[in-house]
Amino acid sequence: MNFIQTRGNDETKPETVTFSQAILSPIASFGGLYVPETLPELGEEFLNKHVNSSYKELASDMLSRFEIDIDQSVIDEALALYDKFDDPSNPVPVVKIKDNLYVSELYHGPTRAFKDMALQPFGKILSSVAQKRDENYLILAATSGDTGPAALETFKNKENIKVVCMYPANGTSDVQRLQMVTEDAPNLKVIGIKGNFDDAQSALKNLLSSPSFEATLKAKNISLSAANSVNFGRIIFQIVYHIHNYLELVRQNAIEIGEKVYLNVPSGNFGNVLGAYYAMLMGLPVEKLVISSNENNILTRLIQTGIYDIRDGDLKLTTSPAMDILKSSNVERVLFGLYGAVRTRELMENLDKEKIYTLTAKELEKLQEIFVADYCSDAEGKEYIKAAFKDGYLMDPHTATCFKTYETSSNPKIKSIIYSTAEWTKFSPVIANALTGEVDAKDITALESISKEANVEIPVMVKELFNKKIVHDTVIEKEDIEKEILKFL
Ligand SMILES: *Cc1c(COP(=O)(O)O)cnc(C)c1O
Repeated sequence: MNFIQTRGNDETKPETVTFSQAILSPIASFGGLYVPETLPELGEEFLNKHVNSSYKELASDMLSRFEIDIDQSVIDEALALYDKFDDPSNPVPVVKIKDNLYVSELYHGPTRAFKDMALQPFGKILSSVAQKRDENYLILAATSGDTGPAALETFKNKENIKVVCMYPANGTSDVQRLQMVTEDAPNLKVIGIKGNFDDAQSALKNLLSSPSFEATLKAKNISLSAANSVNFGRIIFQIVYHIHNYLELVRQNAIEIGEKVYLNVPSGNFGNVLGAYYAMLMGLPVEKLVISSNENNILTRLIQTGIYDIRDGDLKLTTSPAMDILKSSNVERVLFGLYGAVRTRELMENLDKEKIYTLTAKELEKLQEIFVADYCSDAEGKEYIKAAFKDGYLMDPHTATCFKTYETSSNPKIKSIIYSTAEWTKFSPVIANALTGEVDAKDITALESISKEANVEIPVMVKELFNKKIVHDTVIEKEDIEKEILKFL
């Protein structure tokens, strides 16, 4: 299958590219993204076929329908990485909360957040493609906390790939930071940037537009790639679990094949819910996709009013930092799907230039046929964490936003699947505050008090972090970043 471009072709690139090309250089003409030219049809026959399949069997069959230019043996090795999850026979448990409400836990991988679902297999595939072509790639990542650990974990010791990961020195949880700075492999470099996530991200952007940096990479025969969710190599693995979850409800005798359900996704860069959107287009019976946000409610406003407006540029720091976002990159792929390349280019250019775009009434109607959205404040989230805990369920602040939108934006008579994107261990100070009232606890204190309060074990891989050797102790001003990376290269 070939991939086409969301903003049309500017003639500096081929009209269509293969999957390999799309994942190696994920930015398309006019700054657009790559999308599949067609989507395979996976109707009831496909669902019936896989009612009793394992996660890997389902994934393997779904991927084969995309006819991507990756050898089956590489795909098999990539999918085998799900064996590292807590329960290899079921990497994504779906838990019943109450009648008609289920939670899909996407965080049972090596770094305890949902980024592993896609980055684990993606790392294997990208490295294989680079090796096969005998090319070397550098992946630069600015992380607010979850992408960094998952990218380092998947690319460590992989051939033909180097990773430099920048994190805000004061902007991640202790667990997230330790997951990065203790990751020991010669092809990895982790750099703390003095400042917040915006500082780390703007340091990265400056570097990407630096001619001297470009010249140095060229001289060393290194190309740049990207591991953020604009890369379709991640999205393709994020389609699988939406289908898996649906089949889980069938297996639990909660629904019959054909019954529509809500998929309720805590959203930031829109990668997770984009996977759900594609699953729906491919034939998964979905009532609506529910977009849950925190107080950075840009997506809520888009879906409720048709206006994407970031003119005030005001990013709030919340207790669900992985959803603190203004520019949600993957929305572009939905715009393309609904309105085509010409209109997508126009809307995205408006956003770049004027920091706003407005859909027509007709366009908004199309969007609302698929999506519904709302947002949850930190204070409300805390109440939902408390209430769920009382009912016996421990959840993180990202997941909590969905419990609000479940109430405001879906019909309780229809089954809902909420996506849980992080384990409680990754955001323990916030959860401890909700459960016991303690404030400003360090992660280690909070982990222990939650463990006691909820009578759950702290997973070994999290506990071990606090005794591991710190390998990356570089913390620098953002001006010094280029120098630091060149030293590493
Ligand atoms: C990345 C992330 C999200 C947001 O996912 P998108 O695919 O960017 O919408 C939500 N919650 C957690 C914990 C995450 O790490």
